[in-house]
Amino acid sequence: MKVNKIFVEENLQGHESVSRFCESFPKAELHIIDQYENYFQKVKKPYLQKHNNNSIFLAEKRGNLVKAAPDAYGLSGEPHYYYIHAYNCMYECQYCYLQGYFQSPDLVFFLNHEDIVESIRRTYSEHPEGRMWFHAGEFSDSLALSHLSKELPIYFRAFQELPRAYLELRTKSANTKELEKLDPLENIIVSFSFSSHTAAKKYDLKTASISARIQAMYRLYTKGYRLALHLDPIIDSPNLFSDYQQALKELFEKIPANYFSYISLGVVRFTKDVFEQTARNYPESDMLAANFVKSFDNKVRYSKPLRDKILYNMRDMILRMGITKEKIYLCMED
Ligand code: SF4
Repeated sequence: MKVNKIFVEENLQGHESVSRFCESFPKAELHIIDQYENYFQKVKKPYLQKHNNNSIFLAEKRGNLVKAAPDAYGLSGEPHYYYIHAYNCMYECQYCYLQGYFQSPDLVFFLNHEDIVESIRRTYSEHPEGRMWFHAGEFSDSLALSHLSKELPIYFRAFQELPRAYLELRTKSANTKELEKLDPLENIIVSFSFSSHTAAKKYDLKTASISARIQAMYRLYTKGYRLALHLDPIIDSPNLFSDYQQALKELFEKIPANYFSYISLGVVRFTKDVFEQTARNYPESDMLAANFVKSFDNKVRYSKPLRDKILYNMRDMILRMGITKEKIYLCMED
């Protein structure tokens, strides 16, 4: 990743993460600023400038640090929240909703993790009974740059004291270095977005390959981490099921299928804005050649019969591969 500028909020100048980022990108110009909100997205920056013109903001997250997750975000019947520790991502998945969400692909890293943890604790105490979930990576990848942001130990310490709370770290990276330094916890689950070799190569640009993700999962499995899978977003293709079956077979040969705590299934979908942005950014992508319709939640999706067929067959396939039905949930589907 090429970084041209690093913006640091003035009250964070002595923070240890600042020197780590500056040392990692020694050619980047350093700018001291008051608050990131006065600079980030102030001038619209085309999404694809992330190829060669990235800025990093090191900032404090203000406002809501923990938010309720949308319906059907995780296993049903339990409260789900997400926390925001970063905006934007070094990867470039063609369907990524971030390309229509922010006015800039610049990366923002929030350094006030203790405040985020405090907010998680408050939310936890509002639910005195039952399990609850917190998700990292709603606006970024949870592990891709974790060797620079180094926040994982803070969350591990916090979740050790919150036994009813589960933390999901979601990723498409193979950067397990920081996790391997820590002891796994029963209530921290590392979930990998997974697809076929062909689909990942075509649509998950710059991410770890499916083989590298399998290796990463295997490293975490041998260390004792709990794991989960997201087969999401599934993009229709002529060999969809055989391609997925092949990749899943490779995975389950290394890690027993039933070791995974849950598997989500979701078919590709876009908001109208993201769909338009995707068409502008990747006009040649065969992902856009399908017939899309406006669906129940105003999102742009495949027709209902096609979605049902994909979900039914995919679910059937993973059931036959040894996943129990209680572990499967549909992500963002009616
Ligand atoms: S890994 Fe996630 S956040 Fe990053 S580009 Fe891909 S879809 Fe977007």
